[in-house]
Amino acid sequence: MSVSDRFFSLVPDRQCGSCMVCCEYLYINSPSLKKPADVLCGNCVSNQGCRIYDTRPSVCRSWHCLWRRDATIPAELRPDKSGVLFSLSVCDEPRYLFENAYIVCMALKTPAAFDAPLVAATLARYIGEAMLPVWLSHAGGKTLAWPDDKLANAILSPVAAQSDQLADEGKIWLERYEAMLEPLQAKNARFHHHHSPN
Ligand code: SF4
Ligand code: SF4
Repeated sequence: MSVSDRFFSLVPDRQCGSCMVCCEYLYINSPSLKKPADVLCGNCVSNQGCRIYDTRPSVCRSWHCLWRRDATIPAELRPDKSGVLFSLSVCDEPRYLFENAYIVCMALKTPAAFDAPLVAATLARYIGEAMLPVWLSHAGGKTLAWPDDKLANAILSPVAAQSDQLADEGKIWLERYEAMLEPLQAKNARFHHHHSPN
């Protein structure tokens, strides 16, 4: 299945329940709602959920973490229970090549959460699938977990690659990545539209 087919539907029977991790940890900058990262949204009432749920902004209706979108993430990894938030990010104007479209795993409290067996296995699987860049994020910073340094450098600067083989690998990587971006961006826009009744 191509990347652009993979993450754009919701897993049946998976609900947010009492999780409100995205209402706290995400930076939201939409016309109808702005909030900094790591601050619980003012509309969030503890143990009750969103006090404007029925009229919540479209950004809240449309955004879903990967736990809601990718059935291969184990059910146990609901963000409020696992302490990690997996998301797919697709940017229109990224600052850095590997931020065009990527998977990011954010540790909410402690980076030790990355080492929990199910989290580590999920990260290893995304890296092993070699589809999208994988970032680890914690406390406002993020590091690239895949491609690794050697390959990332070869992709960004083929002439400085340590070997011809690595330069070729980087070139193939970049062609494959660039080819998937447009379909991903289109799918991303449609997905958000589809999930935004407002
Ligand atoms: S982080 Fe995921 S599971 Fe939790 S409330 Fe947000 S979308 Fe739902
Ligand atoms: S408006 Fe509601 S759903 Fe949206 S971030 Fe705030 S608490 Fe969450």
